[in-house]
Amino acid sequence: MKTDTVQSAYSTFLEQVNQAQVQQVTIGRDFRRDGKAERIDYTLKPEFGRQRYTTRPVGSTDEVVKTLKEQGVQFNLASEPLPTAGIVGLLISSGMMFGALALAAKFSRAGGVGAATSMGKTKARSYGKSKTGVTFADVAGVDEAKQELQEVVDFLANGDKYRQLGAKIPKGVLLVGPPGTGKTLLAKAIAGEAGVPFLSMAGSEFVEMFVGVGASRVRDLFNKAKRQAPCIVFIDELDAVGKTRGGNPTGGNDEREQTLNQLLTEMDGFDGNDGVIVIAATNRPETLDPALRRPGRFDRQVLVDRPDKSGRLEILQVHGRGVALGEDVNLAEIAAQTAGFAGADLANLVNEAALMAARNNRQAVLMADFGEAIERVIAGLEKRSRVLTTAERQTVAYHEVGHALVGALMPGGNRVTKISIVPRGLGALGYTLQMPENDRFLMLEDELRGQLATLLGGRAAEEIVFGKVSTGASDDIQKATDLAEKAVTEYGMSASLGPVAFAKASAQFLDGGSDRRTTSPEVATEIDRQVNLLLNNARSMAIDILRLNRGLLESATQTLLETEVLDGEQLRAMLTQAQAPAELQAWLAGGYSVV
Ligand code: ADP
Ligand code: MG
Ligand code: ZN
Repeated sequence: MKTDTVQSAYSTFLEQVNQAQVQQVTIGRDFRRDGKAERIDYTLKPEFGRQRYTTRPVGSTDEVVKTLKEQGVQFNLASEPLPTAGIVGLLISSGMMFGALALAAKFSRAGGVGAATSMGKTKARSYGKSKTGVTFADVAGVDEAKQELQEVVDFLANGDKYRQLGAKIPKGVLLVGPPGTGKTLLAKAIAGEAGVPFLSMAGSEFVEMFVGVGASRVRDLFNKAKRQAPCIVFIDELDAVGKTRGGNPTGGNDEREQTLNQLLTEMDGFDGNDGVIVIAATNRPETLDPALRRPGRFDRQVLVDRPDKSGRLEILQVHGRGVALGEDVNLAEIAAQTAGFAGADLANLVNEAALMAARNNRQAVLMADFGEAIERVIAGLEKRSRVLTTAERQTVAYHEVGHALVGALMPGGNRVTKISIVPRGLGALGYTLQMPENDRFLMLEDELRGQLATLLGGRAAEEIVFGKVSTGASDDIQKATDLAEKAVTEYGMSASLGPVAFAKASAQFLDGGSDRRTTSPEVATEIDRQVNLLLNNARSMAIDILRLNRGLLESATQTLLETEVLDGEQLRAMLTQAQAPAELQAWLAGGYSVV
């Protein structure tokens, strides 16, 4: 069941809007009052509360619409009367489903407006051909995502070409990335570029109060889509419907699960070649039900990441187009000062600066306005801890270069293709992208050790440079430990234990992880000892490599701090001078003893 809906005073709502606390607003008519009275449903930004609110405006809402536009709050007008969620939400906040059902029945009998039936209909906002008015030119700084999506545009625009060749067109594309990076914008741009209708709906809108409503909305949405094909169905906030099922034994999630099941059924029920492509967006891919990612559903994932410096410049240029910029405004410099900003933050920044200029009765926005606006926006972001302090950036930079440097020398053939200190918000602060030279299915023992050392290289760099480690390496340690554990218990790579598989083959379709088979306490101790040994050896190897190449570690880190991103070419050019310590040379020559 979804979160409760809270009735709030209209004055409170206005205040929340003015304090920029409001995230999303739906203005509609309240069918309980014959559709005459207006009603506003809204949500706050997550940091101000996760509940849904409903309020009844005093007087006309025109004024509100104006303010919402100014504040850049997402809003839409419901095409149909808003369901009873708000009021009922108050009554059943303790989860009395029966009461809700009884009420629903009562409303549908008495309402006359067709309460229950109209509730099932989608509120999907449908835009006609290319009516989204958004094209790829409006989305900047996410070139990789754009490139991948270009293909989707082609599927939609030239579907016949693919059908004639007998090619299967993908059905579902999942846009994954931190909030405000332009996922919604990209989905609209795809529709705009392909010139096809765009049916959009937020996941939270599916999950309504009454069991069955969400499912029927899904059905309705897909029926509409099939009639309009080729078209795009866009499901925003997929995580609201798509969370892993079966989490709640009391059955409190029945509604959401039914909705999700319906979505899965619908996705299985049509063919990508029918001309419907489902695009979904989420900030929280890790919570999604794995069933959503099976082939034939959302089998394509596109990462929409925070922009790097040059990306931020492009976004500033896009949003600066409609603003009178003063002579002294240097967008490149602003881009340099806004590490960690997502597209929405930059759009907000430009707007803040313009407001600042207006407040000062200026004709154009000056650099000083931007300076002040940056401070304001950062203050807002810091609350959500998205912006790194200088010290944090430094730590992250050393850490990532540590991975890259160790990775460059270790066997394993995984060349590092990119390192970045643009915060990602999906867990990691910076990241190092490793690509296997070829698709590898077998890892040699050497390579496994190389992997371990590379994983621990980030932490080792922190140890060497700062004499202490940060919490940022926890994911690396987790991965390294898992790998070492596998080496000992599954791959039989430890001499003292021999080729015995201690891990039971894990059931592929259960998330149970691998259970160890029953072992004697002595063997269990030995397993732990061997895992430990592997990890400690890897750590000291990483430390030795970094000590020997300290100069390189420093210079590469400085470069990374300046550019924020280093790609494979730049890295390789930089790291060719890296030297292998004597023990590594011996190891590479085959002299490394098996633990
Ligand atoms: P998301 O769906 O990823 O949370 P949105 O697409 O809703 O982000 O972005 C909100 C607004 O921020 C957009 O309407 C646009 O004005 C601005 N924006 C976000 N990302 C970009 C981008 N990459 N390029 C240009 N503008 C962007
Ligand atoms: Mg969005
Ligand atoms: Zn790391």
